[in-house]
Amino acid sequence: MSTDKSKEEFLKEISNLNKKIQQLETDLSNTREKADISNRLKSMFLANISHEIRTPMNGIIGMYNVLKQTELTDVQREYLNIINLSGNNLLTIIDDILDLAKIESGQLELEHNIFSLKNELNHVITLLKDKAKGKGIELFYKTSPEIPDSLIGDQTRLKQIIINLANNAIKYTKEGSVSIEIELLNLKNNIAELKLSIIDTGIGISHEDKEKLFKAFSQIDSSTTRKYGGTGLGLAISKHLSSLMNGNIGVDSVVGKGSTFWFTAHLEVDSVIDTPSETKLTKGHKEQKERLSILLVEDNLLNQKFASATLRKEGYNIDIAENGKIALEKYKNNNYDLILMDIQMPVMDGIEATKEIRAIEDKNNIKDKIKIIAITAYVIEKDRKMCLTAGMDEYLAKPFKPKELIDLIDYVM
Ligand code: ADP
Repeated sequence: MSTDKSKEEFLKEISNLNKKIQQLETDLSNTREKADISNRLKSMFLANISHEIRTPMNGIIGMYNVLKQTELTDVQREYLNIINLSGNNLLTIIDDILDLAKIESGQLELEHNIFSLKNELNHVITLLKDKAKGKGIELFYKTSPEIPDSLIGDQTRLKQIIINLANNAIKYTKEGSVSIEIELLNLKNNIAELKLSIIDTGIGISHEDKEKLFKAFSQIDSSTTRKYGGTGLGLAISKHLSSLMNGNIGVDSVVGKGSTFWFTAHLEVDSVIDTPSETKLTKGHKEQKERLSILLVEDNLLNQKFASATLRKEGYNIDIAENGKIALEKYKNNNYDLILMDIQMPVMDGIEATKEIRAIEDKNNIKDKIKIIAITAYVIEKDRKMCLTAGMDEYLAKPFKPKELIDLIDYVM
């Protein structure tokens, strides 16, 4: 009898325990859901606030570029350079936070574009060569003939990883070289697995310190931050981006000898064989520029002044339209090679104007379509997509440096 009772009690206890476990599971799932929601809200907030900060930064950096072209004393020029340096540092931080927020809130999606790997690598070298040269460091890339050049994927994000790693390599190298090497690990079913290694002859990283890398806000020690600056976000972002490309990231390093940061990526091979246009980047030489005529569509007077001064200095012919409607009229009556199109404008915005231009081209069966570059403070992915779906060829986020604009024009033309 007594054993039966204890069995009954035992079963009751198990049933109570089961109920408690179920309750705990529900609580846990609710808490997790709440944590997920608040994490997503935090990321959305960060994405929005970063966007808002970019707009006034546009004014600061834009004014720097206008002021720089006026007559200044040496002391004033020095102060102005500090403003520029700080502004640019702040922008890099904002961009990194924005990227991380987008990754964490799942808003970052990769694009599928056809691109030439060599063109992208040339672009990276163009962007970083002055920095390397300034430190007396050799910068180059190596690729081999078996690597397919025409690929399908997100070239901007691929380039972002390479730039992050190569920038670090230059930053942490005093003398010697930084090279970017590409290997083909696998080619199956039209998917190429590439390994990109960024090899430097810099300060190197110890075994214990390697553990700390690739985590957000992680730097090896605070003295590194003081000496070299940085937020510790670059590697974390690169890791996320390479995993979005079904790849990995890692480092091999010897203290005092140098580091090799590498990452892998899976990219589709463009089956329509097209020979890479290696000449694309070198096309932007002076004689060509003098013949290029550009329509700048911008309502803000300050931005108009800054962009047109930058472009005229490069030898381009510039015409200006204050809004999309005027731009459309000018497009109909002139023969431009390129349009730089602001997005937010009164009367007719950049998106609508671009759609109208593309519609005219389609209606008249024009094959050689005019290049349109969007120039805007919008940096959220969906706005970027909106520009590209409207028919724009490229995209430059404000505030930009004169060199970024010139490089992009060279690239597009
Ligand atoms: P940041 O450069 O903004 O500090 P990263 O995430 O790009 O952030 O890098 C994190 C840390 O990794 C750096 O602070 C530095 O200590 C170390 N590091 C990155 N790249 C190199 C390199 N090529 N050589 C030596 N140390 C490096």
